[in-house]
Amino acid sequence: TDRDLARQLASIERRGYPAYKSLRGSYDMGGFTLSIDHVQGDPFAAPSQLSVVVPARTAGFPRPLFDAPHRKVALEDVLIRRFAQAASRVSFKVGGSGKSGLLATSRPGPEVLARSACEVSRDGLITLRFEAGLPAHGRTVDARACERMLLDLVPRCVDEALVCDDRALAVAQRAVDLADDQQAVRDELGRLGLVAFVADGSVLPRATGVSAKPLKGARPFASPASMRVTIDLPHRGPTSGMGIARGITLIVGGGYHGKSTLLRALQDGVYNHVAGDGRELVITDATAVKLRAEDGRPVHDADISLFIGDLPDGRDTHRFSTEDASGSTSQAAGVIEALEAGARALLVDEDTSATNFMVRDALMEAVVSGEHEPITPFVERVRDLWEQAGVSCVIVAGSSGAFFSVADAVIQMDRYEAHDITERVRRVCADLQAPQTPRAVGFALPQRERRVRIFGIKPQVRGGRRGSDARIKVRVRGLDEFSVGGGSVDVRLVEQLVDEEQTSALAQCVRCAAARGLLDGAHTAGDIVATLYAMIDERGWSAWSEHGDASCGLALPRPQELFAALNRWRATG
Ligand code: ADP
Ligand code: MG
Repeated sequence: TDRDLARQLASIERRGYPAYKSLRGSYDMGGFTLSIDHVQGDPFAAPSQLSVVVPARTAGFPRPLFDAPHRKVALEDVLIRRFAQAASRVSFKVGGSGKSGLLATSRPGPEVLARSACEVSRDGLITLRFEAGLPAHGRTVDARACERMLLDLVPRCVDEALVCDDRALAVAQRAVDLADDQQAVRDELGRLGLVAFVADGSVLPRATGVSAKPLKGARPFASPASMRVTIDLPHRGPTSGMGIARGITLIVGGGYHGKSTLLRALQDGVYNHVAGDGRELVITDATAVKLRAEDGRPVHDADISLFIGDLPDGRDTHRFSTEDASGSTSQAAGVIEALEAGARALLVDEDTSATNFMVRDALMEAVVSGEHEPITPFVERVRDLWEQAGVSCVIVAGSSGAFFSVADAVIQMDRYEAHDITERVRRVCADLQAPQTPRAVGFALPQRERRVRIFGIKPQVRGGRRGSDARIKVRVRGLDEFSVGGGSVDVRLVEQLVDEEQTSALAQCVRCAAARGLLDGAHTAGDIVATLYAMIDERGWSAWSEHGDASCGLALPRPQELFAALNRWRATG
């Protein structure tokens, strides 16, 4: 109980810092349980991992706030944000050396993601995981400060954030209502045959290139009448916006007129956003993958023959591997990998594409004849991707007219305003007797089941002993890179990885897969991803953690990003 905790603390006052280890365990705090899961080694090390478990009757959030997956995630997100706020208000009041007094949990950005920081069970039991810097003077235990922290401040955060009062109820209800509306749009996409929906009034641009905040004074989105659909949302009621139909959609327009901003909003629309973000009702098919050139990335055993034929060095592009892909080969691999990852839509921006992958003009065709050019440009395959593989595509192409004849719809961005110019494009093409872009022959998707074989993940052996002490070392560098054992993945250009906690989760996934022997070349990426997600479905966040006890700091990536990570593995050690 809390008395035991106080007694325990008194007994270690002024002792060396490692004495804190004796606190590990769970304490009944009267109303909730406090668990001290992992204790830091010294005041300057990564903070200790704690959690509180609040029973449903104490928490008191009504069941309709968590009785569907999307509602549960929305409620969890609210609880995390409220707890983080409460913790930041109290945490500076405890001082000391190193991280003494720190009290913090995840601080989510605008996306609403499932996070290890909070789990609400089917019955309404709330688990909230957080970090604490157990207080010290120098390197000795400051038990008085720790008592204040754990017996006074933490309970206050629990009261403020995890117990349902009128205010908490109102905030949670608003978030869950929004999640309902977002889910309704997602469900409607399929019924209406849409890739994406962009609600009228949405604010798409961000304040700066490095900010997730909406741009102040931006021109709100307005749908062209011919593309307008109205969806009757459960809470907001009838809501109109632009529906982007399945098939091939082209976004054109002058430079700086808002094309990339629209595409960016679409690629982020695979996630739900919080109220006030401006993109809360920009909803995209959740499997959509942004494609881009990634010069220098590794490619493992990808069949890119759909786009790249015989290479000058005679390499077989049915089984293409490289440690240093070119712009075009990287983008070709990107398409094939996206299909393997279950993408029903591809999003492409000319700004970040390899030109020679996208198009080739007639004059170049005439000069460098077919037998010397290994590339079949995307523009000649995109119709078959749609008609034969059912994969839609939204393409920003402001500089080449080659996509006009393959597009089902053409949107022009003009001073941030969207116009449907599909008919005008048809007329102009007819009047000019513009040549149709040819359709490349021999469309066949890769059939081979590709297996994942990852080298270089070795456990680090401590003190020369093998066995339970052998750890696979994991390091995460924000949205840039993560490493596991003796290998790493550069994720800087995996654009739909949006939160550093997703990178951490990817690292744990790879570690977990390695530990279970899933990366030995006997399993396909699909098997591995399915296994990892089934584990988390069954056992919650502890499934992906190293010691079977979850801590805060992980956010759920999409399967598409997990595929992307496996595909970009580089053995370094
Ligand atoms: P393009 O891709 O057509 O060249 P961008 O999408 O990069 O253009 O947009 C150019 C600039 O316009 C960006 O700085 C962006 O923030 C800004 N912008 C985009 N949409 C809007 C809008 N609706 N209102 C105001 N500014 C916008
Ligand atoms: Mg652009």
